[in-house]
Amino acid sequence: MSELSAALETIQPELLAMTRLFGLPDAYWDPPARYRMQTEELPEIYRITFTFENLSAAREAAIPSDPDPRVQQLHRRRAARRLCKQTLYNLLRKMTGMHPPWGSLTGVRPTHLMLEALAEGLSPEAAVERLVRDYDVTLPKAELLAEIAAVQRQLPAPGDAFMDVYIGIPFCTTRCAYCSFSSGEIGDGRLVAPYMEALEREIRACAPLISSTGRSLRALYVGGGTPTALPEKEFHHLLSLIRECFPNACETTVEAGRPDTLSREKLRAIREAEISRISINPQTMNDRTLQVIGRAHTAQQVRDAYALAREEGIPHINMDVIAGLPGENEADFDCTLAEAVRLHPESLTVHTLAIKRSSRMSLENAPLPDGDMTARMVTRGLKTARTLGMVPYYLYRQKYMAGNLENTGYALPGHACLYNVDMMEETSHILALGAGGISKKIFPEEGHIERAPNVANIQEYITRVDEMIQ
Ligand code: SF4
Repeated sequence: MSELSAALETIQPELLAMTRLFGLPDAYWDPPARYRMQTEELPEIYRITFTFENLSAAREAAIPSDPDPRVQQLHRRRAARRLCKQTLYNLLRKMTGMHPPWGSLTGVRPTHLMLEALAEGLSPEAAVERLVRDYDVTLPKAELLAEIAAVQRQLPAPGDAFMDVYIGIPFCTTRCAYCSFSSGEIGDGRLVAPYMEALEREIRACAPLISSTGRSLRALYVGGGTPTALPEKEFHHLLSLIRECFPNACETTVEAGRPDTLSREKLRAIREAEISRISINPQTMNDRTLQVIGRAHTAQQVRDAYALAREEGIPHINMDVIAGLPGENEADFDCTLAEAVRLHPESLTVHTLAIKRSSRMSLENAPLPDGDMTARMVTRGLKTARTLGMVPYYLYRQKYMAGNLENTGYALPGHACLYNVDMMEETSHILALGAGGISKKIFPEEGHIERAPNVANIQEYITRVDEMIQ
């Protein structure tokens, strides 16, 4: 088998993702496949041709070389796969006449390419030009990446001397219709005590790893789930455990996503524990939509929670909103954004609805705004963030996003969340504790990451915690 064919052996899922980008059926790949791929390995050149009926697209790329055979193999594999995807992309553009906002990029982290270009010494303008020319990314999206990269380069640098910590609390009051996390409804709360006991065991066993490996704690993130869904007693115990085991974090976030899980006592405890950042997420300020998506709280409860958090002196509140929710149009999204302006969070994350197969909404087939309307909502989100004086600081994409768009985090200057950046750019070691957490050890020089996932099922986590610690 040639080097080029070997590099493309497992590329089929990425090619499928590419055809979905253009809304074409997966069945085109079923044997006998209607797309035909031809590969050629010439001296110093890879060439790939895709054909579909009487249309075809061909592209070539130089074969990379490097004195280190391992690095060379990695670069060649990457170049071959990029070439293959870009060639199919060119064919699909010819077939449909469509221009997806992110061009031929199907990955989760498009910011990587921008940072890579800047690290090679390209100017931001030249890096934008490369993304537009080589990947057909639309100019506004490429410029958004350049702006994000500029903000990220001003943040304290991560690296081998640091480690982030993630703690997962997999309970929510109800399950959102679009949720694809493994979190469970807290229900009668019978799993809370055994879960928290297992988690404390894992925290106490693993926290010393930071100093024993000679590293410092950078960012601590308590997510889930909704950590504030815990009963008062367990919530207060968790905060004191965090203070005891993870002092001196540069930044600490506690997700308080559902406004109906907050009380004055919890907010006071958050303040006293010197938590630097919380997240209160309306997703929409439209009561009808909140019901449809199963959030079980009202827009008024969001307003009340913000007022209470301000009264208790919480220094940084993040707000998440979602563009493209079922039954919503631009006017509905504008109402949500107008409320965001009134509540004035320190950071705002504009998500695009992504309906994964494991979510309830995918089963119910809820009517959704189309991709063009969702794209206009996302643009309005960006304008609102700018009105609030915020800058974009991180961005990621997911599968099955409406309009093939993106999620973008905006923050007031000096309020970018380090954990969000580290997580998305994969630039920091992460020690993840609790059900569903995935610890990561990064090897930046090799461009390699080792992952150690905990089991996601709550009951299984409780019984297998010692194995997780191991
Ligand atoms: S709040 Fe988040 S984790 Fe909880 S059900 Fe909704 S989407 Fe899932």
